[in-house]
Amino acid sequence: MDLGIRGRKAIVCAGSKGLGKGCAMALAREGVEVTIVARTQATLDQTAAEIRAATGAKVNVVSADITTPAGRAAALAACPAPDILVNNAGGPPPGDFREFDRDTWIKALDANMLTPIEMIKATLDGMIERRFGRVVNITSSAVKAPIDILALSNGARTGLTGFVAGLSRKTIVHNVTINNLLPGLFETETMLSRVEAMAQTSGITFDEARNSRLKNIPAGRFGSPDEFGALCAYVCSAHASFLTGQNFLIDGGSYPGTF
Ligand code: NAP
Repeated sequence: MDLGIRGRKAIVCAGSKGLGKGCAMALAREGVEVTIVARTQATLDQTAAEIRAATGAKVNVVSADITTPAGRAAALAACPAPDILVNNAGGPPPGDFREFDRDTWIKALDANMLTPIEMIKATLDGMIERRFGRVVNITSSAVKAPIDILALSNGARTGLTGFVAGLSRKTIVHNVTINNLLPGLFETETMLSRVEAMAQTSGITFDEARNSRLKNIPAGRFGSPDEFGALCAYVCSAHASFLTGQNFLIDGGSYPGTF
């Protein structure tokens, strides 16, 4: 299926590894020019080379912290009129909420709620003028099924989700959609480092910790960034113009409810 977005331009925040990279790769496969943003130049360069070699697409890199005003300005300078915006950043740390002070909360809100809102604010009106726009926010399955030790993530991402629910109904008439993708457990560096941390705190091996996480996934495996990217590319496609304000859970069947 041709997704109908060849020649479009995308900013993929936090796009050098994991889920962001999966999205950048899938969009590039569809002929989208991608600008990927992350803090580490070496990883960005490596990922850009990999995407170019696999897809032949034009890939720009911006080495910046997307959670800062300067970082966002750098991303927008490299791609001032994106047709597609994938919002993503590192997730906040787990822990007991009693240990989180105000600064910790502000950091989580900045990264996982206010940064996506700022990026939307900077790009939305241009999309509306050009009569095409796709915004995808990478959030978490924890928005639908909150996890006690992820209080910072639950709070910040649910705030973003509420904001998007209101705004997305205002923009679709201009062919500008805003949707959220909610990953369950995906095989990425961050997720594997959490498994490693769990092994250490529980005094078990890495494989035991890994298997205990797999136990709750009906698919019997972790997700791959490529399959996450494929969903992102579809939601960004020309065919998805009747789709807005939705929260797409992609979790190998982990969430047990009907809706
Ligand atoms: P990952 O594989 O570790 O990749 C994180 C990416 O984000 C890297 O490219 C990293 O590059 C970049 N990044 C982090 N902080 C950044 C910042 N401030 N500015 C710019 N780039 C930044 O992580 P992932 O597993 O794909 O996770 C992506 C998001 O999905 C996170 O918010 C995570 O909490 C959420 N999530 C993941 C899972 C999962 O199972 N993987 C499940 C639910 C939710 P640099 O470090 O070089 O900046």
